[in-house]
Amino acid sequence: MTKINPIRDVPSVRVRAENSAPVNTDGEFVLYWMTAFRRTKFNFALQHAANLAMELGKPLIVFEPLQVGYRWASDRLHRFIIDGMASNQSLLESKQVTYLPYVEPQQGDSKGLLLHLSKHSCSIVTDDYPCFFLPSLIRTIRKKISVSLQSVDSNGIIPIRLADRTFTVAHSYRRWMQKNVMDHWHEKPLEDPTNHLFLPELENSDVQRYVAQWQVADLNALRKPNGLTQLPINHEVKPVEAMTGGEIAARARLGNFINTKLSDYDTNRNHPDFDATSHLSPYLHFGHLAAHEFANAILDREDWTENQMGTPNGKNSGFWNVGDSAEGILDQLLTWRELGFNFAARHPRRVDKFNSLPNWAKTSLEEHSVDLRPHLYSLKEFESASTHDPIWNAAQRELVETGIMHNYMRMLWGKKILHWSKTPQEALSVLIHLNNKYALDGRDPNSYSGIMWVLGRYDRAWGPKREVFGSVRYMTSESAQRKLRMKQYLAKHTPRNG
Ligand SMILES: Cc1cc2nc3c(=O)[nH]c(=O)nc-3n(C[C@H](O)[C@H](O)[C@H](O)COP(=O)(O)OP(=O)(O)OC[C@H]3O[C@@H](n4cnc5c(N)ncnc54)[C@H](O)[C@@H]3O)c2cc1C
Repeated sequence: MTKINPIRDVPSVRVRAENSAPVNTDGEFVLYWMTAFRRTKFNFALQHAANLAMELGKPLIVFEPLQVGYRWASDRLHRFIIDGMASNQSLLESKQVTYLPYVEPQQGDSKGLLLHLSKHSCSIVTDDYPCFFLPSLIRTIRKKISVSLQSVDSNGIIPIRLADRTFTVAHSYRRWMQKNVMDHWHEKPLEDPTNHLFLPELENSDVQRYVAQWQVADLNALRKPNGLTQLPINHEVKPVEAMTGGEIAARARLGNFINTKLSDYDTNRNHPDFDATSHLSPYLHFGHLAAHEFANAILDREDWTENQMGTPNGKNSGFWNVGDSAEGILDQLLTWRELGFNFAARHPRRVDKFNSLPNWAKTSLEEHSVDLRPHLYSLKEFESASTHDPIWNAAQRELVETGIMHNYMRMLWGKKILHWSKTPQEALSVLIHLNNKYALDGRDPNSYSGIMWVLGRYDRAWGPKREVFGSVRYMTSESAQRKLRMKQYLAKHTPRNG
């Protein structure tokens, strides 16, 4: 296919043909089916769809649906996503693009909508996200669609399908990333792919015809206090009022983090009392923020230039040659976050399975599954923060009430679920359920990296062997309390009578 403007081209390693159907040049528009990169800026998938629309001289529809029937659907997740839809609507209002938000009223109502739209379209572009129900949704849909369907990877800075191996430890991924990152750093997505489009626009009556019996979402109504009550989703998991979803809120939070917290990130990030991290993982998860925008903002703050770059050394400092805090957060973003995408992209069906653990960890946990547990709790007891340990209970309450959990507490929280469950397999299912039900950033490749890290993924065998854990790394609340500042954290997340 001839491209019209090489600056706009999306690197081919990020684009996958999902079927062999042709582009229908008689179609009425190009459809961007936005499922994971729910943003208007720094989005390769939107950029690719806009390129196709320009090449064909056709209108572009950005179709952003939200279903109700997926596991863990709740007011919390819906509100955050719908906030994002409202952001997208306002950011695209002045653009030569038709934005079509759809929120499924009852399970099954969305059936047929994408197929209906596809019949009018020239081609469909969607998001290539390697986790949760999205890979299987694409596998199902692609067989039914008779126009070209392409998926585009805008997950991170290194394309998820570049590596030809699965990395088992962070330092080998880091070394590989450091060797490859500059090639991809120069292939950034456009900041605003819908700027300077010269596309025909659609009439409202046409849009009504395409949507037929399906209702375009009324985002204002859905964002009202009782706006979600009619939807068949879990209403007990409440929206997090302190966190508005969407690209506009993400950008504001990023700016605030850089201005007020970045300089102390390195020294403060492990201390729960200091609340020193960005809280941007929910925005990265729902695609409201691009990793490119995040990393760029940090390097800009450091006045970084390429000349100061060190040689690849596999270490988590001295590569970008910026301050310790900037180097630290870039390592989280470029090594730890993208390591999880490497696993999920290569093993989408195994990412959450016990048997995907390294052999040493699996064997050791299985050998110790008969060990006597010092405490045993059911899912219900864990969920209601009713263990004997006030530190663990505080972390669980933080998750349930705020939709996030401090990273250090999350590690401890996970290790104790392993310690206090009947078997490691049961611990895994409790971890997945609680993390994905309550955490705004759950259901992500990094949900599984973190949870599987608790059970040994990306780690090494530790000695001496311990009851229940075997060679898997052990952590205790007592040692966390000794090492970390957490008094205020405990006070904040412990009920007065608790
Ligand atoms: C048991 C367990 C479960 C976890 N579940 C999730 C999850 O569901 N979703 C999720 O995104 N992360 C998860 N993590 C990883 C980590 O806890 C969060 O990414 C981090 O706490 C997010 O907070 P932040 O945005 O303030 O991070 P910051 O410290 O501000 O870091 C910036 C970004 O770097 C990435 N990052 C930071 N720490 C890690 C890490 N350890 N692993 C991978 N990426 C990281 C995140 O994208 C984060 O937003 C889990 C970790 C554990 C131990």
